[in-house]
Amino acid sequence: VAGLLSGKRALIMGVANDHSIAWGIARKLAEAGAELAFTYQGAALGKRVRPLAESVGSDFLLPCDVEDEASVEAAFAEIEQRWGTLDIVIHAIAFSDKSELKGLYANTTRANFQRTMMISCFSFTEIARRAAPLMKNGGSLVTLTYGGSTRVMPNYNVMGVAKAALEASVRYLASDFGQQGIRVNAISAGPLRTLAGAGIADARLMFNYQKRHAPLRRTVTMEEVGGAALYLSSELGSGVTGEIHYVDSGYNIISMPQPDTLKI
Ligand code: NAD
Repeated sequence: VAGLLSGKRALIMGVANDHSIAWGIARKLAEAGAELAFTYQGAALGKRVRPLAESVGSDFLLPCDVEDEASVEAAFAEIEQRWGTLDIVIHAIAFSDKSELKGLYANTTRANFQRTMMISCFSFTEIARRAAPLMKNGGSLVTLTYGGSTRVMPNYNVMGVAKAALEASVRYLASDFGQQGIRVNAISAGPLRTLAGAGIADARLMFNYQKRHAPLRRTVTMEEVGGAALYLSSELGSGVTGEIHYVDSGYNIISMPQPDTLKI
């Protein structure tokens, strides 16, 4: 992969710690020679992100809370000022109140529905709109989704609804920006042990279930998600846009548990 992204500038949004999917992707893009900038949500996370950024040769860190429009605007103004152009954006941001990532979806509150949608879905649209003018030579936008968007996953609830809307927005954005040579795709990752992942009730059970029943009989690694992001963000994926690309050990294709695990 060395040199695949040399001369390219990538904005990484969503690193909270070294278990974050965004960090797995950042490492892969750095390995391929991309120059990186990182956004972080709040000063406490900024302290954690800085040494990670430095380890891949980046000193370009920006605060960005996507709930606050002024914060998003300021981040992109700074990118424009320092870089002028942008080639790649990785959006690995989601949030929902933990108390609603369990039990019945029907109990979702108005306030948490709006907040979940704003952070986990709308932010990608707003970021794409702000990034597009900086992608003067075309570009690639990648977001992260999960299979709970199309099939019911216990406890995923409102986040599944937000991911469905996020996936639809990938298609609309791909259409909006296609003529400018900007590609827009999502990676639908299998479960990974991250901060956000831990917020879902029975996350461990889902993790172990996929391990037992996915065609590959295992979960995926951050490196594998990073590899898919590299493909989608580089020339390797130049003909691909509007796609929801599964990196889930094949879990999405199965319709029943593996027979060898059943006692009938
Ligand atoms: P994570 O907790 O490491 O990352 C989530 C990030 O979202 C954090 O960096 C957090 O700061 C950021 N964020 C939340 N609210 C924000 C706000 N208002 N403004 C700016 N940033 C905000 O967890 P992760 O699992 O790496 O999550 C990254 C993405 O991957 C999410 O979209 C998640 O839904 C998706 N995903 C995760 C899994 C999994 O099993 N972990 C599977 C499929 C998809």
